[in-house]
Amino acid sequence: MNDINMVMQNALDAFNSYKTLSPAERAGFLNEIATAIEAARELLVPVAHEESNLPLPRLNGELSRTTNQLKMFARLVEEGSWVEAAIDTADATRTPPKPDTRKMLLPVGPVVVFGASNFPFAFSTAGGDTASALASGSSVVIKGHSAHARTSQLVFEAIQKAIATTGVHAHTVQHVLGSGSTAGKALVIHPNTTAVGFTGSFGGGKALWEYANQRETPIPVFAEMSSINPVVFLHDTLQQNAAALAKSYAASITLGMGQFCTNPGLLVAVQSNALDNFLTLLGTEITQILPQKMLHSGIHAAYSKGLNTALSQIGIEKIGQAAKAAGEEEAFPTVAKVKANIFLQNPHFREEVFGPYSLAVCCDNKEELMAVLKQLKGQLTTTVMATDADITANRDIIDLQTTLAGRIILNDVPTGVEVCASMVHGGPYPATTDSRFTSVGTTAIKRWVRPVCFQGFKDNMLPDALKNNNPQNIWRIVNNEWTNATI
Ligand code: NAP
Repeated sequence: MNDINMVMQNALDAFNSYKTLSPAERAGFLNEIATAIEAARELLVPVAHEESNLPLPRLNGELSRTTNQLKMFARLVEEGSWVEAAIDTADATRTPPKPDTRKMLLPVGPVVVFGASNFPFAFSTAGGDTASALASGSSVVIKGHSAHARTSQLVFEAIQKAIATTGVHAHTVQHVLGSGSTAGKALVIHPNTTAVGFTGSFGGGKALWEYANQRETPIPVFAEMSSINPVVFLHDTLQQNAAALAKSYAASITLGMGQFCTNPGLLVAVQSNALDNFLTLLGTEITQILPQKMLHSGIHAAYSKGLNTALSQIGIEKIGQAAKAAGEEEAFPTVAKVKANIFLQNPHFREEVFGPYSLAVCCDNKEELMAVLKQLKGQLTTTVMATDADITANRDIIDLQTTLAGRIILNDVPTGVEVCASMVHGGPYPATTDSRFTSVGTTAIKRWVRPVCFQGFKDNMLPDALKNNNPQNIWRIVNNEWTNATI
């Protein structure tokens, strides 16, 4: 606990220094972290492979995604308009006189980031949470995931090189390894912590959220937790494209051994011969996929338990399972089906089984399909596979899906999350603890800031973003109009 007190005191000192840096200096730091990680690629990827069982090509791609995220946030900070500056100039002639008010987003303070087991680079030590928090001007304390502790430490060493090169405060980023329930909890409840980022299990995210809300001063926890990502298959497309759909969905269900938060865990359709044909083809595709090692023994045990529980429910029928026997810590890709009236009566079927498993729900008619969707909890994604004719006839289904998730996908698979300004990787509880935010893309920065209004300040006393001569040349709302002009 003494250690955590010291870490959090350092984090506050670092914040008070780091928040004063210019956008160019902050961007320089982010770019330097990307450079240091890239330089360590040959060291990092094999260690991550050893710790996570993830294949080398995947990890190489993930490392590139991580450095690209850092560079993306550097560009965002350098451009500067993300601070949402809004200026309403004074009007002394009004009765009563109108004051000069100017608003912008400012960093919240030290942020605690929990590394995720399923993305040792892109959602861990220097991943999207850390990059977006540093971009905002917050200092960061990382609680490394114990399943890839060495990778986490090596990435942190790359960050330390960037700290030395750029001369930012030595404790702008700190790294803590230890158990979640001791070190992790101590970080969340420490009074200097102002916000938390997390990706992992529902139980873990909920526990952190509870610690944060039991504090004397509650703080936000942005936890991305559980999602079964329902996919609706409409009739026309099943009739026309069954073989292609079976191939692409078998690949999506088993991508990364199903260890993606956007894994399609639920397939929903109205009963027909076309659906039977699709499910037979999907079952055949799944039997051909080889079992592979999961991320760590805990995740493998959770998958095995979840799968056994699911398959032991009354009314469930296995339609495909990997044919080869699974080795130690390997997961069996599996698909099963159940009739909607049974699904609707059994809450077990709505739980996430994290791994290469998907459940098809066969509905008697459209009303039953809508009832299945209405019964689901909040999701990260929902997908509709449909022809144009299907869409025209089923707008109500799509309207319902829009209420369910942060991202709705047409004619694609939910796995694969583009890192860009328009992405929403978030969704209603329990997909996340706060559906107003995303943890992927440039707007992920919004989790680590709060709006502050400066009223009655002289120009030379204001932050640069709010000064009359607009020294950063950013876009602002000045007296209700978007402009990058000076005042
Ligand atoms: P996890 O158990 O939620 O752990 C993630 C992090 O949170 C770890 O650092 C862990 O600490 C910490 N933590 C967990 N419970 C805590 C608690 N009660 N108090 C304080 N800290 C706590 O996730 P995981 O190890 O990555 O995987 C376990 C399961 O999570 C999977 O089987 C899967 O169901 C789910 N998962 C979901 C996603 C997703 O994207 N939705 C991603 C990964 C995993 P320790 O180091 O002590 O464990």
